[in-house]
Amino acid sequence: MDTVGNIEKAVLAQLGDPNSPLVRRVTRHNQILLHNYQASVMKDCRCPLSGCGRIFGVILIPNQILYPKFCGEHRSEFRREFHLRRQAATASMASVSSLASAEIGVELSAAP
Ligand SMILES: [Zn+2]
Repeated sequence: MDTVGNIEKAVLAQLGDPNSPLVRRVTRHNQILLHNYQASVMKDCRCPLSGCGRIFGVILIPNQILYPKFCGEHRSEFRREFHLRRQAATASMASVSSLASAEIGVELSAAP
């Protein structure tokens, strides 16, 4: 029996337990899609990473419940951390500049 099948069986058995370390570990990088399709079916998923939301396709395979959780761009932990760091930097820059213009009252005027 293959390892992936064994993990899936174990996940399925512990799915009802929200404190299951196995389910938590597995769903950090994967999503569990329960289905009873007898043939492969394409499904659109949305990347749950903050600020991404990209739609990507997964192929549902009969008797398989574990699928990638993130879009192709954010499938590795490194890429996700990079994305979140860059997003945080952009957000703090935007709030600083809106604060500056509101509180300091900077206004730019062009000569006629
Ligand atoms: Zn993404």
